[in-house]
Amino acid sequence: MTDQHPSAALHAQTQADFAANLASVRARIAAAEAAAGREPGSVRLLPVTKTVPSERLRLAIAAGVDWLGENKVQEAAQKSEELADIPGLKYSVIGHLQTNKAKYVARFADEFQALDNLRQAEALQRRLEIEDRTLDVFVQVNTSGEESKFGMPPEAAAQFAAQLPAYDRLNVKGLMTLAIFSSDHDAVRRCFRKLRMVRDAVREQDERIAELSMGMSGDFELAIAEGATVVRVGQGIFGARALPDSHYWPGFAQ
Ligand SMILES: *Cc1c(COP(=O)(O)O)cnc(C)c1O
Repeated sequence: MTDQHPSAALHAQTQADFAANLASVRARIAAAEAAAGREPGSVRLLPVTKTVPSERLRLAIAAGVDWLGENKVQEAAQKSEELADIPGLKYSVIGHLQTNKAKYVARFADEFQALDNLRQAEALQRRLEIEDRTLDVFVQVNTSGEESKFGMPPEAAAQFAAQLPAYDRLNVKGLMTLAIFSSDHDAVRRCFRKLRMVRDAVREQDERIAELSMGMSGDFELAIAEGATVVRVGQGIFGARALPDSHYWPGFAQ
């Protein structure tokens, strides 16, 4: 049993349902860009496909989904095999990664958004050399101060980022965060603003660190107002998830 997420779309079943949900999310993104005085198209939609089985994903892909955001490496790896016949799909791993699973990410992922320690960077570098691949990465920052969240403290981000040029298989793109889970919009917005301020500071030492991955189904308009360049949207496209989020975010109490 889960509470219906207030921003969850109805459970999409057909290609037309997915097309309608995607159009509605894209319209909300465009409206938020315009409201913030930002360029149309400056925000990338990363559809979050965790728990959605491959057969249902085929309908969403036919409706225009081209990036798959997955929280768990093994679930993502399995889908990349099941959907291998579809050209041009891209995979972004957005959840915590245990170092011993770096090899899977190095094999199939195009992007990893939850980098938060150097052992991970080292393991990815080594595995990417073996696969002769590169990987786009985002550094995850814990902007809410909640202990249950992964990511490094904002104060540590600059020193961490300064070490990343040593890992030449990692294309460092920006920062990622999960805001506090709260109905208090100001508190949520402060998390997004903090990530932007950390990005502004870190970009002065490494101009590659430009992007901000922040905002989900329930809060992406606020994130866009604070400068998000990537929003990660699951339930707004696919409908409410059957599994509680505590399954994906250990320590997150429902
Ligand atoms: C599940 C998840 C999302 C998407 O959440 P929705 O409420 O489905 O939009 C975004 N980011 C991360 C890291 C996630 O695990």
